[in-house]
Order: sequence, then structure tokens, then C-alpha cells
Amino acid sequence: MSGENCFEILNKIFIPKKQEAIEEIKGYRMKYGHIMENDTVIDEVLVSYFKAPKSYTAENMCEINSHGGNIIVKKILELCLKNGAILAEPGEFTKRAFLNGRIDLAQAESVIDVINAKSEKEAQAGIKQLEGGLSKEIATIKQEIMDVMVNIEVSIDYPEYDVEDVTNQEILSMLESVGSKLSKLEKSFDNGKLIKEGIKTAIIGKPNAGKSSLLNRILKEDRAIVTEFEGTTRDTIEEFVNINGIPLKLIDTAGIRNAKDEVEKIGIHKSKEIAKEADLIIAIFDASKELSKEDKEILEIIKGKKAIILLNKIDLTTEIQKDDPIFKDLTDSVIEISALNNVGIDKLYEEITKLFELNEIQLDNELVITNIRHKNLIAKAMESVEKAKHTIEEKMPIDIVAVYIKEILEDLGTITGEFVTEDIINEIFSKFCLGK
Ligand code: GDP
Repeated sequence: MSGENCFEILNKIFIPKKQEAIEEIKGYRMKYGHIMENDTVIDEVLVSYFKAPKSYTAENMCEINSHGGNIIVKKILELCLKNGAILAEPGEFTKRAFLNGRIDLAQAESVIDVINAKSEKEAQAGIKQLEGGLSKEIATIKQEIMDVMVNIEVSIDYPEYDVEDVTNQEILSMLESVGSKLSKLEKSFDNGKLIKEGIKTAIIGKPNAGKSSLLNRILKEDRAIVTEFEGTTRDTIEEFVNINGIPLKLIDTAGIRNAKDEVEKIGIHKSKEIAKEADLIIAIFDASKELSKEDKEILEIIKGKKAIILLNKIDLTTEIQKDDPIFKDLTDSVIEISALNNVGIDKLYEEITKLFELNEIQLDNELVITNIRHKNLIAKAMESVEKAKHTIEEKMPIDIVAVYIKEILEDLGTITGEFVTEDIINEIFSKFCLGK
């Protein structure tokens, strides 16, 4: 429970072993006792006390730890409600933390990302934002703008001082610097999207190359599986797997797995389609046979794409070599495997890690935007930067420049929640689950 009266309500239903006046109980303490309804013990519990403003919501808070189970928990909840508590809306605890100023909007939004994270990377990105990474960067940018804004106000208020030339130079260099910081943030969204949505990965190859065997290999290792969910159309399933902390979304796994008979097996045409929307292509070849016309078509598909080539069935006599010049310009990643005997799969994982971790998803020292709302606002702020630059170049009056600069500040303030409407706030928190 959170709110001014939560201890009062608690007192009506909780009898601690050691009775103490609420003023005597310090925050960050737990007390042992019983939840009672009249003279009946409902459960033996531990209650944590948090005192405003040092709590999640920045209000008085208490948490009842019961033995759990549906019946008891429901009963305790009913008792709270009967004694004056109101059921929280989805995200209400976090919303209060925001409205009470303990965290800003971007931090509040990251709570949901942390909870819904499907991989370690995504969770890390969420935690970083929760700790205020993005908020700090936005604050730095805003400060940079404000410093110059002061001079602009002087120019507008006291035109007789004629400081415009100096100010224009100063504004331009500030806009350059702000623009490049924003553009870096915006670019990070590509990675953010990969982290959040998974790297869309297509396994392609001619029929019988070993796609379904490989897929089963990957899915069989339970360290890899996170979730399985229905894709947009009825007969596609996208499987989310986690390779060394890197989230991959395998496209059309249903098609690959269910195609048992020859006619149905996923062929070149379908491969082309799947490959189109992929961030990463795993192209698999039957190395026990020479490269066929179909194989060459598959190679054609991966041209210019991020791809890993797998030479499968190396347990048999091999007809295709790793260093075949035909692979040379397509990718550096050619790996020999046997999907049947589980040979080389580790190498495939290493390669995926190498491709995506080293040069792309470096979370340790870089801020990553994962939220589309933030991305759109950053893009909007960048437009205002460009407009402001343009007005200076066109030698327009400084008060017009000021209008655009204020727009940048507003867009940035909307990310952190300073300038934000109630509708937006409600929409954001409605995506939360109950009790968060
Ligand atoms: P898909 O049509 O590309 O999905 O291919 P499948 O995974 O269904 O494999 C086709 C056939 O090749 C099956 O009979 C598999 O058992 C066999 N196969 C797959 N991988 C290997 C392998 O590494 N070695 C051998 N010897 N056979 C394999």
C-alpha cells in the first residue's frame, strides 16, 4: 500500500508481535506479526515499512509479505480494501513515483522495459535508463541550450546593445553541438530496436539442407529459449532465443519445422521472402553435395546482407570447402557444422556474438534509446535544430530563432515529462501491469 493513510489501514489488520507506535517505527524496517480479521488469524506475515519520502512512490508505504497462494493473498487484499485502501490502477505505483518527482518520465517508462525484458541486454538497457542515463544526457543537452538562451533573451530585451553577431556565432556552435548529440542518440535507436525486438534472423537454404535440424538444435538447448509467440499471420511462429545474451527473433520457424514432406519443404522462393525482412541471415548448405543451382540462388539472396554461411553435414564426405572462393565476397563467416551430431553449433553462437556484440551492441559505455516515443521526440528536436540553424543563416530576427530553440527544449522536456499532457501520461502507465 502507498499513500498518506496506509499505516492507519495497516494498523487495523496487522498485529505485530512487538507493538510500537507508528512514529517509533523507522523506515526500511520489517516487523513480524499476524494479519487478523476480528479475532481470526489470516496469516503470519512480515511487513516492511517505508516512510515518505524514502520509498518507491515517495509516499508512506508498506508491503505485506504473506505465505502467498491465491486464497490468502486475496483475503489480505480484501481486508485492505475493506478498511479503506483503493485498488491500484496499472502502473500506479510507478506513476506516483513520477508525479511525486522521485523519477522522471523516461525513468518511469524504463520500469516496464525492465519487467518485460526478454534478454539480458534488454534488461541492461532498461536498468541503465532507470538509473537516469538518458535523463542525464537530456539534462546536459538542455543546459547547453539554456546557457545560450540567456544571451538570446538579452539580445531580444536590449536590442540597443547590439550583441547579435556574437550571439549568432554562439548559437550556431551550440546548435551544432546539440545536433550531433541528438543524432547520436537517434542512431542508437537502431541498436535499441534490435535489443528490444530481437535481431530478426532467417534460416534459409534449399530443401534438405538441414534448416529444421538446425532450428531444433538451437531450440533444444533450453538456455536459448525465452518465449514462443504467434506471429502476425496465423501460420507463422516467431521464436525468441537468447544467444549469449543476444536476443534473436527467428522468423517463420513454423514454416521450417512443419514442412515435413518434399512438396511443402521451404524452398528458394520462400527463402527469398523470409530473407527480405531479416537483420541476419543464416544460410545453410548441404556440404555433402556439390553446390547446386539452388544453392547458388541462396548465395545470391545473401549478397549485401549480414549473413553467416553454414556448411552442414560435415559428418559425411564433404564436397564444399570453407575457403571456396564463391563465399569470399559474401561473408567472412563460414562455419562447418553437423546439425545432426551437434558439431560446430558453438562456433555459430560465437560468430553471432562477434557480429552483434563487439561492434554494435555496446551497452557499457553507450546510451541506447529503446523507446519509440523518445526516438520520435529526439527526431522532432533535431528538426527544430535544423530550422533554428536555417533562420540564423537566413539572417532572420533573433526572436524567430528563439522560437525554434524553445521548441527543442520542449521536445526534450516531453521525454523527461516536464512538458507532457495528462493523456500521454495515462497512456504510458496504462501499459503497465497491476501492482507496479
Ligand atoms: P530442411 O529441409 O532444410 O529443413 O532439412 P532437414 O533439417 O529436414 O534435414 C534434411 C535431412 O538431412 C534429414 O534427413 C536430416 O536428418 C538430415 N541432416 C540434417 N543435418 C544433418 C547432418 O549434420 N548430418 C547428416 N548426416 N544428416 C543431416
